[in-house]
Amino acid sequence: QVCRQDFMASLENDIKPAYGSKEEDVERFMRNGIIMWGDAVQSTLDNGALLCNQVQNSDKTPLVSVLITGGVGSGKTALATKIAVNSGFPFIKICAPDKLVGFSEAAKCQHLKKVFDDSYKSQLSCVVMDDIEKLIDYNPIGPRFSNTVTQALMVLCKNLPPLGRRLLVIGTSSNQDLLREMGMDKSFDSHLHIPSLSTEHHINNTLEKLKAFTSDDRSSISRQLKGRKAWVGIKSLIRIVGTAEQAESPMRVPTFLSLLEDEAGLK
Ligand code: ATP
Ligand code: MG
Repeated sequence: QVCRQDFMASLENDIKPAYGSKEEDVERFMRNGIIMWGDAVQSTLDNGALLCNQVQNSDKTPLVSVLITGGVGSGKTALATKIAVNSGFPFIKICAPDKLVGFSEAAKCQHLKKVFDDSYKSQLSCVVMDDIEKLIDYNPIGPRFSNTVTQALMVLCKNLPPLGRRLLVIGTSSNQDLLREMGMDKSFDSHLHIPSLSTEHHINNTLEKLKAFTSDDRSSISRQLKGRKAWVGIKSLIRIVGTAEQAESPMRVPTFLSLLEDEAGLK
């Protein structure tokens, strides 16, 4: 006799859904979790949740799109992913440029189109277009980019899902100026910006949440950062911590501070 348990077990082990599933390796896009280093993090997540509610609840807006911008390493991919996961929508797809490496322009467009077509099969979906400037092959030396992929993206982001279907599109980019120049920013209804960590509190919060260094080391760092300003993305900060932790214990704090000075324009 086949019972529900067998069915669930085979779903788990044998059959993978053809289009998107919640667990689809999204975790790798926020490998270090989401650290609440400052108010900006919560407000970005809150704003994202509002948009998810809008997609879900308002009959007037079956399609909502938002562009998340922020410097390189500011945590755009992770926050976009978090918003998508928090939505609880049954279909979530993160479209990242690394999956399209080596694709021809036509193949890229086809892939993007398929992602949207798949999303239309679910009543509620969220599609993340991560790192738009890489998706369109932007190259600042030249400058060059794929116009075909750009056009495809713009059309797909604006395309209303079929009747009864609802879709949230989240785009991310670290080159806001480029998107504005190309008119791509207009393909998105709203805009969220992720700031860098700038104060001693932001950095302290992060070190604490990461349980980095000893608490004495953290107090010492905190003292030396007091009143100074830094500009560092969360991804870069986590990397710097990782490097400094490799140093012998008396050198850890100075190593961390000097890396931070180099990386974060510490003043
Ligand atoms: P890139 O410009 O290279 O695309 P990015 O801005 O997309 O970088 P992420 O790839 O999202 O940055 O890297 C952020 C890393 O920091 C992830 O590993 C994530 O888990 C971690 N992280 C911790 N706290 C936060 C936070 N509050 N916001 C975003 N990411 C966070
Ligand atoms: Mg990214």
